[in-house]
Amino acid sequence: MVDIQGVHKFFGELHVLKGIDLQVQKGEVCVVLGPSGSGKSTLIRCINELEQISAGRLYVDGELMGLREVDGVLHRLSDKQIAKQRERVGMVFQRFNLFPHMTARENVMEAPRQVRGLGRAEAAQLADEQLARVGLSERADHYPSQLSGGQQQRVAIARALAMQPDLMLFDEPTSALDPELVGEVLAVMQELAASGMTMVVVTHEVGFAREVGDQVVFMDDGVIVERGAPRDVIDHPRQQRTADFFNKVL
Ligand code: ATP
Ligand code: MG
Repeated sequence: MVDIQGVHKFFGELHVLKGIDLQVQKGEVCVVLGPSGSGKSTLIRCINELEQISAGRLYVDGELMGLREVDGVLHRLSDKQIAKQRERVGMVFQRFNLFPHMTARENVMEAPRQVRGLGRAEAAQLADEQLARVGLSERADHYPSQLSGGQQQRVAIARALAMQPDLMLFDEPTSALDPELVGEVLAVMQELAASGMTMVVVTHEVGFAREVGDQVVFMDDGVIVERGAPRDVIDHPRQQRTADFFNKVL
């Protein structure tokens, strides 16, 4: 589903991704861990083209992202074509960024209405289905200010799911939450994983990585230092850098 080949990313002189190779199979949950500044956010922002890669190839579901190859020459896609590709990839951020003047239901309806052109009734039905999926049917008419942080993040997940993506990306979805609200968001993500969604999750929640991750990736300084099953990478790391990291966070 995700195939990343030799991807580099520069911000000016700063070399942030230094040759990333990563494959995520359909239905797999890939958890990305690593210290601050190691390039985790940049990597997932490249997957849904919020950042342009500087070199390499990045495929989602077999489709080359952001580029078109004609007779061996790469051409950048138009903004419109990139927007089309991005529709298939849902993203959830640390900050939920809900529209404050819209109810939960209206927040979830917005993209299907604007981007997919659904009618009001159809979009509302879709929104209610997605809100049910994250356990918020009773809160559909509430405004963000009337919801807890955990509930707001679950609305943000429903909003991403309403576009019926093939792939979901999460960038530290629980980092901004009070500790007692983390569990409800992780539980929704765990259910989503169980339903077969392909997911790439950046998180510091090692428990989630261990329980839900099919593949754990440890990044440091723009490279993937180590990858594999959670029990190998987290509990029996082969690299000193990985061991040092988990000794600190566990
Ligand atoms: P954290 O755990 O703190 O979220 P991270 O692993 O997600 O860290 P990134 O946000 O990917 O790290 O940043 C990697 C490096 O790239 C950092 O040195 C950061 O300052 C730099 N960087 C990120 N975005 C930009 C940008 N838009 N312009 C310039 N430099 C950037
Ligand atoms: Mg980050």
